[in-house]
Parts: sequence; structure tokens; C-alpha cells
Amino acid sequence: MSKAKFSIDNYKRIIESFRKEGYEIVPLDNNFFEIKEKYSKIIFIRHDIDYNLKAGRLFSEIDKELGIKSCFCLRVHTQVYNLLSKEGLEFIKSIKSNRHIVGLHFEILNRVKMVDRNIVVSSIKRDTKLLEDITGIKRIRVFSWHNVSVLDDDMKHLVYESYLPYINAYSLTSYGIKYYSDSNHRYSVEEWLFLSKKAPDKLHLLFHPFQWIHNSSSMREVLANEWENFIKKFEDENLISNHIFKKLFPDGYEKVRYEEFLRPLLSKEKRRI
Ligand SMILES: [Zn+2]
Repeated sequence: MSKAKFSIDNYKRIIESFRKEGYEIVPLDNNFFEIKEKYSKIIFIRHDIDYNLKAGRLFSEIDKELGIKSCFCLRVHTQVYNLLSKEGLEFIKSIKSNRHIVGLHFEILNRVKMVDRNIVVSSIKRDTKLLEDITGIKRIRVFSWHNVSVLDDDMKHLVYESYLPYINAYSLTSYGIKYYSDSNHRYSVEEWLFLSKKAPDKLHLLFHPFQWIHNSSSMREVLANEWENFIKKFEDENLISNHIFKKLFPDGYEKVRYEEFLRPLLSKEKRRI
């Protein structure tokens, strides 16, 4: 039997399945310490927005439909999206009107030298303040680290430390909250459904919206779709207004060129990864 795809419908099934098991689903928020004791079965839910604001906005609406509020952690230093673009402002508007929570998706700019805890603290302060100014949301105190796996070994301990009053999503395990994430499709849909029936009572779950919107069977398919989106977005927003590019490609780059470009990512020879 073929495995279930990573789709919006299956994301909804997973959430419903946890809920059927009696979990109260809440966003990771500034009230973490009070609320963690309030329910016997509780899920702190979080969405990290790595690349795709459209996917984030879609999840803002899906979670609203499901009747849950989530915590959306946003990057401020990425070049792949801009929170002050039209798309970004629409996303923030949706987050606010659906009463979700905003957190910082924290990234290290200087990976090699940044081993000092004080620098981490001042960066968190600076970036949350920036996010508050961009979104108009007050007291953003939740943050999650982006791409922990690329950090140097001598920095890894910083990822799990407490930075109160800022709530480090990766420190939740030290309060007895078990963490599960969908990073790189590490669990299949079937495993998530199984997990919903067997998991401990207090959970912290991370779902990346971009991994669920492509109706895909593998992470490679997701990455190929995302890559195509990056290029098309860049083309639509920038190149198409250049008259030389427009003369050459009045409708943008042809589909066949994308297929050619993405072929190595989807090639059968590399199927084992
Ligand atoms: Zn991330």
C-alpha cells in the first residue's frame, strides 16, 4: 500500500486525531508557564516559516478552520521572504485577524564566532524588537532557532538554554514537554497518526507549512516545488519589469526550463537520499 502524501488534508487528519485523544491544542505563547499546568493533556503548537509566506498564510486559515490558534515563528534576516512585502503584510494581517501568536524564528548571522551567550541574548532582543515593529504586535517573547543542525558543536548547548523572559521553544523539553517535529518529513503521515494515540500527555509539535502544501511523497519533491516558487516569485517581482528580459521571455521562463533545472534534484539515481 502506498504511503499517505504530505497534504493539507492529512495535516488536518493528524490534528483531528490528536484532538480526539483529548489534547487541548494551544499556541506556544508568553503564558507558557501558567497554561502548561492548566490541562492534563496539552499540545503547544508551532509553525516555523522557513521559506514560504503563502504557505504560512494558508496555514493561518486552515488552523482557524480547525478551531485552533498556533504560534507562527518568523525570520527577519532571510532573503527568501520579506515581511514588509505585499505578501508579507497580507500574511501578518491574516495572523492577526485569526488571533494566532507571532514568535521569532531566530537565526545566527555569524555562525563561527558567535559562541557568546551575551551575543545570543542581545540578538534575540534586537530581532524580537524588529519583529514587533514590523508586525505592530507587542511583547513578542517566544522564539525558535532556525536550522540548528548547521550550528558549530561548541554552540549547540546554547540552543537548549533558557533565555527568560524570552521563551526558547527548544527549552520546553526541560519542563517535561516532549517534542516532535515534521522537519524533513522525518515521520510519515501514518507515524504521526500512530503517535497521536501513543504520545505522552504534554507535547510540543512543530509543523512547517511549506512541507504540507505540495501534496508530495518526499522532501525532494517539496524542495523542487519550493525552488521553482523562489524563481517564479523573483521573476514576477523583478525580472519581468526589465524590458530586455520581457522581450526574451514575455510569459516568463518556460515550464520546460524549470523541469530541466530541477531534474537533478528529482533524479532517480539519487533516490536513496
Ligand atoms: Zn527553520
